[in-house]
Amino acid sequence: MPNPAEKYQDIRDAVRDLCAEFPDEYFREVDARRGYPAEFVDALTRAGWLAALIPQEYGGSGLGLTEASIIMEEINRAGGNSGACHGQMYNMGTLLRHGSEAQKKQWLPRIASGELRLQSMGVTEPTTGTDTTRIKTVAVKKDGRYVVNGQKVWISRVQHSDLMILLARTTPLDQVRRKSEGMSIFLVDLREAVGKGLTVRPIPNMVNHETNELFFENLEIPEENLIGEEGRGFGYILDGLNAERTLIAAECIGDGHWFVDRVTKYANERIVFGRPIGQNQGVQFPIARAYVNVEAASLMRFDACARFDAHEPCGAQANMAKMLAADASWEAANACLQFHGGFGFACEYDVERKFRETRLYQVAPISTNLILSYIAQHVLGLPRSF
Ligand SMILES: Cc1cc2nc3c(=O)[nH]c(=O)nc-3n(C[C@H](O)[C@H](O)[C@H](O)COP(=O)(O)OP(=O)(O)OC[C@H]3O[C@@H](n4cnc5c(N)ncnc54)[C@H](O)[C@@H]3O)c2cc1C
Repeated sequence: MPNPAEKYQDIRDAVRDLCAEFPDEYFREVDARRGYPAEFVDALTRAGWLAALIPQEYGGSGLGLTEASIIMEEINRAGGNSGACHGQMYNMGTLLRHGSEAQKKQWLPRIASGELRLQSMGVTEPTTGTDTTRIKTVAVKKDGRYVVNGQKVWISRVQHSDLMILLARTTPLDQVRRKSEGMSIFLVDLREAVGKGLTVRPIPNMVNHETNELFFENLEIPEENLIGEEGRGFGYILDGLNAERTLIAAECIGDGHWFVDRVTKYANERIVFGRPIGQNQGVQFPIARAYVNVEAASLMRFDACARFDAHEPCGAQANMAKMLAADASWEAANACLQFHGGFGFACEYDVERKFRETRLYQVAPISTNLILSYIAQHVLGLPRSF
């Protein structure tokens, strides 16, 4: 079968069956009350889907990124939003690749079973934005502990997580040779930290995404929660981004298919001027174009996955997949909203909800401009602009 999209039907069917238990009304109601789809995430966890990437020796299913991407795609294609839980799938990658054997044995089996949720990763800060090497959150070693002070913003799922991966500066910027040095990664036990040095302030937002401002005031982290070597944390974070970007590309592909399926059905059924609106080429072509672009993005996603699973460099492919998929889902979203006419704006059609949800991926976890800048500099060899 030449197109990998047609493979893995068993995974697609199983995830679709689970998602069928959570129909549109469920997500609509959660969105309306700005809630968290706890029952849905619990069901995915119980079924083991979020432990797909954890090796079997630590209690996961040991699947590749290709299979994991199918799981995320199907969740969004069914009308759900993987943004509520995708962190549980990929945040543990930092621990898996750079943690000690003792740390992996301590944490991974309990993450795999769902007993512990590692849904959060704290990188972004209010005053530095995408310029990550300038982060101001510091961790200072003192008496067998690290003491953390600083602030983070847009840190997702903290209220529904037991653990968080945290990036903090351990050597001041003016004392390192390269600005990417001197940052470290920690595993923060949120159950102990919140209220004892860590304050969490939720950010109400457009997409009903559980995300927060974090304030660190002398938060103490045990020394053994440092992951890997002190000072090398920025590289560890970058290592994990390819998986994150590829999985989010898959979510956008799922969204894209959802929009195309919905608008195709509607355009076949809606009669105006005595014929289905879908009979007009002015309606057909934007839908067909969006479909073409979703399919093309899907192939780039599989290229990124295959390279990742073969342990080959895949930074360019992961970034390109994320950009193509986010653009394609946004194009599909616009066609879907447009051809639903006024009904696209009614909550009961779910188009406006999915429209808001998929818009996020033009900005997070990395904005389109920053992807273009990466391709220009690292793939094409154009001069560095910042
Ligand atoms: C709902 C949501 C959830 C999030 N969850 C997390 C999370 O869990 N953990 C986490 O660490 N972060 C999270 N983020 C943060 C997210 O990764 C950042 O918002 C994103 O990377 C953009 O950074 P910024 O908001 O600081 O934008 P800025 O860096 O301030 O940039 C603003 C705009 O300017 C553009 N820009 C900036 N510099 C350049 C340049 N040199 N050339 C061209 N264009 C440029 C950018 O592309 C962007 O469009 C989340 C964000 C949102 C909205």
